[in-house]
Amino acid sequence: MKREFAVIGLGRFGGSICRELSEEGMEVLAIDLEEDKVNEFKNIASHAVIADATDEKVLKELGVRNIDHVIVAIGDNIQASILTTLMLTELGVQKITVKAQNDYHEKILNKIGADQVVHPERDMGKRIAHSIISNNILDHLELSDDHSIVEVKAGKKMSGKTLVDLDIRAHFGCNVVAIKQENNKEINVSPMATEMINLGDILIVIGADKDISRFEKQLV
Ligand code: ATP
Ligand code: ATP
Ligand code: CA
Repeated sequence: MKREFAVIGLGRFGGSICRELSEEGMEVLAIDLEEDKVNEFKNIASHAVIADATDEKVLKELGVRNIDHVIVAIGDNIQASILTTLMLTELGVQKITVKAQNDYHEKILNKIGADQVVHPERDMGKRIAHSIISNNILDHLELSDDHSIVEVKAGKKMSGKTLVDLDIRAHFGCNVVAIKQENNKEINVSPMATEMINLGDILIVIGADKDISRFEKQLV
């Protein structure tokens, strides 16, 4: 069965989610207060309607309770975002993802029952900051407040050495969970301690942020 989504708020973030879901062939109901925004998505989403999502009656009429996953992408109006989220939880929507504007907003959203709170500006900022530290830090994924996974490209400091030579776990407290070889599409998801690292190989490293930070400074 095809999954159904609703995107509330068609700014840059919500609009981008709506576009991508539609391109992937998903059934999407697009909702915004503004006629212009809704018109922009008339030919993209399955349905696009002008509506105020803070109005409970409207949400009921739109049948939002039967939608599998609702994404609340109301930007600056934190009050509207909170109210909408609260009503969606009360309607019993199965999965609710909400974009948070700041840390307090995020806290409230978690308290009132949002299943997933995203903070795209903050998270993207973090990822870009890591790639700015070194051209060899390809990506950064936050696992919790103080643990992450990073994707790094082996430079001269790592090239020609094994995991034992570099002593990464003992020295930095981080684990190399996978190695992608540059000239090989294969990914080795349980590298042996004796695995040789070559220039350009991509290492997936997991650990505490402070440990990853030391690892990045010394070896990447
Ligand atoms: P982004 O940062 O993703 O570009 P934005 O800064 O444009 O978003 P806003 O303009 O504050 O964020 O909000 C996103 C959209 O949410 C807007 O198009 C706005 O019309 C819509 N919106 C705001 N309040 C409501 C509401 N109560 N019901 C439906 N849509 C709403
Ligand atoms: P340990 O108790 O740390 O696993 P060990 O001698 O049993 O020590 P080996 O598998 O022989 O472990 O690896 C020796 C050292 O090589 C480890 O202490 C670690 O520093 C490094 N090492 C091996 N595999 C990895 C890995 N996947 N990620 C990071 N470092 C590794
Ligand atoms: Ca914005």
